[in-house]
Amino acid sequence: MTPREIILWNRRLSAINCEETSAASFSLWVKNMFCPKCKSEYREGFYKCSDCGADLVAEQPPELMEEVSYVDFVEVFSTYQQSDIAFLKSVMDEEGITYFFQGESSIMMIAAGSYARLLVKADEASRAKEILQDLGFIEKA
Ligand SMILES: [Zn+2]
Repeated sequence: MTPREIILWNRRLSAINCEETSAASFSLWVKNMFCPKCKSEYREGFYKCSDCGADLVAEQPPELMEEVSYVDFVEVFSTYQQSDIAFLKSVMDEEGITYFFQGESSIMMIAAGSYARLLVKADEASRAKEILQDLGFIEKA
């Protein structure tokens, strides 16, 4: 799961847990369409923004992601190996490093020559690099 997916999932869970949110309004929330440029709301069934012509997205980007985007992330490693991704996730979790994999996707995508980039918070990059060096993922500088 990407951070965005996790956040969306958490939002879904909190929407479900919210007593005031009935099942009906919950499904309405999921189906609302938004313009990513001008943030206009559209009912289900609309796919392009009538104001700017942008493709609508199913959910408005969570506000939390806007906060996260202000944090500087730097790339410390990239890999084609799905197994590397799983392993590094557990290592970064254990070390308490804030990270995400960009471009991580299905094995199909990786087979097609795409790769995942490991990004960590800028102020944790040197520690992350040390860990990667110790594990032999990257050369010592
Ligand atoms: Zn628009």
